Amino acid sequence: MQDLTDGVARFQRDVFPAKAELFAHLATHHTPHTLFISCSDARVVPELITGTEPGELFVIRTAGNLVPAHTPGADGVAASIEYAVAALGVKDIVVCGHSACGAMTALAEGHDLSSAPTVAAWLRLADASVARTTADGDVPALVRQNVLAQLANLATHPSVARALAEGKVALHGWIYDIPTGRVEDLTAAGRALAA
Ligand SMILES: [Zn+2]
Repeated sequence: MQDLTDGVARFQRDVFPAKAELFAHLATHHTPHTLFISCSDARVVPELITGTEPGELFVIRTAGNLVPAHTPGADGVAASIEYAVAALGVKDIVVCGHSACGAMTALAEGHDLSSAPTVAAWLRLADASVARTTADGDVPALVRQNVLAQLANLATHPSVARALAEGKVALHGWIYDIPTGRVEDLTAAGRALAA
C-alpha cells in the first residue's frame, strides 16, 4: 500500500501540474471517443497501449474481456456499454484480448475451476468460443475466437444495435501481445497496428 501512497504523492507533485489545464477541462467535460473493453489482467493497460490521455477512453474491464449478450435485467457491464454509447456517444468500441490470458488459458487447457465457482460460471459465457476452437490447448486461437464473439455479443445490446444501424459507431477486435507490445486488429484483415 505504501507504493500506492507514494504514487499518489508523485502524481500530485509531478504529473498533475504538467497537465493542470487538461484536468481543469475534464472537471466539467466527459467526452471519451472510445469505449475500450479489455481483460482485467494487470498487464493490459489501455491508456499506455493506446497513448491516450485521461478523458479519452471509457473503459470496461472484465475477466477474459467477456461481454455478456443482452438480457433483460440489471447488469453492470450492459449499463456501462449503454452509458458509453447512448449517453456519451463514443464513436468506436474496441474489444481487446491479450496473449497469455488466464481466463482463456483455463478454458483452452480445461483447468479445474471448482475452487472458483463464480469464475467458472462467468467463463461459461465463452462456451461458444471454446466450441469454435478446434484444437485443445490452443490459447491464441481461443483468444481470437473470444474477441470476435464479444463483438457479436456487443451488437445484441440495443444501444449498440441502434448506433450501428445509424452508422454512428464502429466495432474493433484487437489482440495485445504482452512480450512484443504488438497489437493486431482482427477486424482490419489481420494487419498489425502501427507495425
Ligand atoms: Zn485476460
